[in-house]
Amino acid sequence: MRKNIALLIITTALLFSGGCKKFEKPGQLKDPGIALTFDDDRVDNWFQYLPMLDSANVKATFYVCKYNRFTPEQKQKLAIIQSHGHEIAFHGTNHYNMMDYVYRYKHTIDELVKCEVVDGLKLMNRDGFYPITFAYPYGAHNGLYDKMLMRYFKSVRALNGGNDFSKSLASTEKNEVLYGLGIDKSSKRSDVNVIDVVKSAFNNNTCAVFVAHDINTGKALSVTRERLEKIFWHVKKLGLKYYTISEISN
Ligand SMILES: [Zn+2]
Repeated sequence: MRKNIALLIITTALLFSGGCKKFEKPGQLKDPGIALTFDDDRVDNWFQYLPMLDSANVKATFYVCKYNRFTPEQKQKLAIIQSHGHEIAFHGTNHYNMMDYVYRYKHTIDELVKCEVVDGLKLMNRDGFYPITFAYPYGAHNGLYDKMLMRYFKSVRALNGGNDFSKSLASTEKNEVLYGLGIDKSSKRSDVNVIDVVKSAFNNNTCAVFVAHDINTGKALSVTRERLEKIFWHVKKLGLKYYTISEISN
């Protein structure tokens, strides 16, 4: 009898010690990483730098607006970008400031949704693009819009205009509202500053969400090739993952 009890204790101990796994909360990020996002309608420019993104194994998110003005060639370029594993997301039909459209120019919320969301999405859907994440033009939003847009998208991205970088570090893969940190020339951030945010994502097991527009055009709303390459170098060195926005959206 005593022998049987001893055997039971040993078997139980073995079972539990062998099967003990690290506990992960549902929705928590498995790996630290960065989400690189590009806004607007600069498909020719993005396409030009596609080989650079590919060679660094980047998976980026392109928030597209003004799709109604794209030429067939530009639509084709966007399809190629998508086929390389990048996410094509939505950034408004006409790039209107959504707060002004309603509160300043006195349109209804229904008019806003039809004009700036539904009409533009329809055009993209017709050509085989099905955006499931959204970025606000100019980052202009409020809580009501965030809730309303959840009917169409898995997440909305606004801008982090302040100095609290932690706002741009997503700690779960179930986000509804994200705050992108600008890395264009206009952001006036230094390379050191941007790389510190990348390191912070690594140290805190979060995903840093960055926003740029053009690549290397020298304009204010443009990120330099050098800066992007510095980011890629640190991502590789730290073993970070490139997340597309839908991968960290609810
Ligand atoms: Zn924009």
